[in-house]
Amino acid sequence: MILRSLAASTALILALPAAAQPEEMAGTEIEADRLVQTVRTLASDQFEGRAPGTAGEDRTIGYLIGRLQALGLEPGGENGTWTQKVPLLHTRLGTPERLAFQHDGNTSELSFPTDIYLSTLQPNAAAKIDGAPLVFVGYGVHAPERGWDDFKGVDLKGKVAVFLVNDPDFHAGADEDVAGTFGGRTMTYYGRWTYKFEEAARQGAVGALIVHETAGAGYGWNVIESPGGENYDVVRKPEDLTSLALQGWISGETAKSLFADAGLDLAQLSVAARKDDFRPVDLGTSFSASFPVTSEVVQSQNVLAKISGTKRPEESIVYGAHWDAYGEGQPDELGRIYRAGANDDALGVAGLMEIARAFKAAPAPDRSVVFAFWTAEERGLLGSEFYAANPLYPIEKTVANFDLDILQTAGLAKDVILVGKGQSTLEDDLARFAAAQGRTVSEESLPERGLFFRADHFSMAKRGVPVMLMMGIAGASDLIEGGKEAGQAWVDDYTGRCYHAACDAWSPEWNLAGAVQDIALFRDMGAELANSRRWPEWKAGSEFKAVREESAAVRGE
Ligand SMILES: [Zn+2]
Repeated sequence: MILRSLAASTALILALPAAAQPEEMAGTEIEADRLVQTVRTLASDQFEGRAPGTAGEDRTIGYLIGRLQALGLEPGGENGTWTQKVPLLHTRLGTPERLAFQHDGNTSELSFPTDIYLSTLQPNAAAKIDGAPLVFVGYGVHAPERGWDDFKGVDLKGKVAVFLVNDPDFHAGADEDVAGTFGGRTMTYYGRWTYKFEEAARQGAVGALIVHETAGAGYGWNVIESPGGENYDVVRKPEDLTSLALQGWISGETAKSLFADAGLDLAQLSVAARKDDFRPVDLGTSFSASFPVTSEVVQSQNVLAKISGTKRPEESIVYGAHWDAYGEGQPDELGRIYRAGANDDALGVAGLMEIARAFKAAPAPDRSVVFAFWTAEERGLLGSEFYAANPLYPIEKTVANFDLDILQTAGLAKDVILVGKGQSTLEDDLARFAAAQGRTVSEESLPERGLFFRADHFSMAKRGVPVMLMMGIAGASDLIEGGKEAGQAWVDDYTGRCYHAACDAWSPEWNLAGAVQDIALFRDMGAELANSRRWPEWKAGSEFKAVREESAAVRGE
């Protein structure tokens, strides 16, 4: 991907009537009309659904840079540019040449993707596992802050780890010792499939399989198999590559017979896995798989702009939203082929532009403020992951990260929805600034879905940066008109009809009054931190507290 020259991007903006808006109007208010203009531009057909690595990316990058220049921001990317190059790895498994369990000389052939679903994040011509022992690791959790370690020092090098989905107290009754240790109904990071694959790689395994079960996963097998053997990652250095040749899921039925053939009872072992004295169980069975793999590297980019701090420029507040959407797809009933993500996340991008404009209209802050427009969120938070692994501003001195990803478009609300309750002191700031708006804070409605781990802020959280996500579909807003019922109807309509579909388009029916207040909250929270010496902190019990504390000395804490 070659970045358009400055002249080309300026010309492009002038060629787009919707984008020809005056930026000179000073003022720190968030303006709904400007949000609409930005959304209508980015979600227009000219941007082709903003898929990474396409012509739609070129246009998007050019547009964003043009806007940021017009706002008077400084380039915040690599080497004085507006961007950070993000090479993405795209892999696809071919038809399996071999796929089976072996126990006691008996072979059970497996069918892909009905019994087992796999993908790879290694850029090799083939993905192979040759008779590796299967080891059941329970929930596969290593959580020192909760006094929990499922691995008990058992060596998993060269083996395939078999995990239960979710975290150890998800299925537990109230009378069990584990109840509440992992947030109860709320999912902790230990319950996410991403954590399980990462942990298997940390333990040196060559494969990882999660036993699928709809309640624990939160979705059916159709969702598991829908990527069709494709996967994406950022391009990693050889020493940072995962040790897993293959990672994926086995169906509940397949798992049941795998355990039964080994003379074990999956249901019984699942109960044993809810106790802290659980130890890994060798299944006495081996796993073999061989797939041809095609892989390519797609060049994409994050866009970054900044306002340098006047007193402590090395300390930064990072605002984020993702510019990518789903690109082209099958036409919907209205013949629309682009999945343009007008709300997800052109509206978040528009919000960042408004916050940037508000900061420029105010006196320069003490600390630096960075505006990050991430690529490839929809491919697995990859733009933000690449940034967090290769930060342009020191992670230890990143004060906080605020992420806008889907805002409610149903009007003014009496409350704001908090995602990730109990994680950091930023939730106290949120409550304070919401109160100043005459609003209250409500909790997300389905904490078992783990939304806190499913947007770009999470890439920063993993590295210890306190974070806050604004996500309009996290719960039913208590709308001024229609209350919670109307708020839930909006969430249901958006998630049921429009989420990740061509229907996620701008509509004249959008009422952005509530979104304006949500964006203003982030503006205010960030502005206070940008003019303070305060460091927000993770709360006791957060799975991210320990990693932040490792660098406490750098911040003089
Ligand atoms: Zn999104």
